[in-house]
Amino acid sequence: MIIDCHTHLRSLDSTDTAEHLAAVETVDACIVLASCNGPREETNRRLSEYVGRHRDKMVGFAVVDPTQDRLNDRGLAALTEKLGHQGLVVYCAMAGFHPAHCQAMRLYEMVQEAGLPIFFHNGSHALSAQAVLEYAQPYLLDEVARAFPRLKFVIGNMGVPFVEQTLSMVSKHENVFADLTIRPTKLWQTYNIVVAAHERNVMDRLVFGSGFPAANSEECIEALLGFNMLLADTKLPTVPRGSIRSVIERDSLDLLGIRRSTAG
Ligand SMILES: [Zn+2]
Repeated sequence: MIIDCHTHLRSLDSTDTAEHLAAVETVDACIVLASCNGPREETNRRLSEYVGRHRDKMVGFAVVDPTQDRLNDRGLAALTEKLGHQGLVVYCAMAGFHPAHCQAMRLYEMVQEAGLPIFFHNGSHALSAQAVLEYAQPYLLDEVARAFPRLKFVIGNMGVPFVEQTLSMVSKHENVFADLTIRPTKLWQTYNIVVAAHERNVMDRLVFGSGFPAANSEECIEALLGFNMLLADTKLPTVPRGSIRSVIERDSLDLLGIRRSTAG
């Protein structure tokens, strides 16, 4: 089973949803993360409609900005029960709030009680000039993981550019995972990320993602399984292919406590 735990839609227009649908054809299931561009309420509602039409394959994560949305239990229940979202995505660097902001901490407490996972889309391979890079540092999530040890969360994009901090976080906290979303054309970066994770003995804490539309799962899988071959004539360290394959085939939905629906 292959689950792509990191996909986005360029927009919810039919051309873009068709493109997404085609891209996820090669995987068994995927998480669709709501975008932080545009009005969040509308984004979450429209994403819910799209995911709802592909419930056997897709899981939606609603976008929340805890400093703006002041979400209470009822608001959270509306996102899950009414719209069917099964997790939240937050964009601390892009939205410009500290991951342990007091209002964010209140949100995490509710989310922990509700048993939902959170995807922290803080670090990125392509942050805009306005994003607060400081808030993308994964070590800032240590306070969150210590305060809410039952909260399951994913550090998106391996916390790029702060990969070492991400490895430290996943080795320290049992409910923290990192999303091995790579850029398949950046082979040296991919190699360094995977070797570093292997040497830290945290390959079992990684989940697979493509970051679609930045890349698609097929080319990411090819790059991950193929880079060892580039090193065949060198003495550089390699990573067992089986270990990489385990990341690609990990059931990240189960790991995050998400039940897959077979309805619709
Ligand atoms: Zn992304």
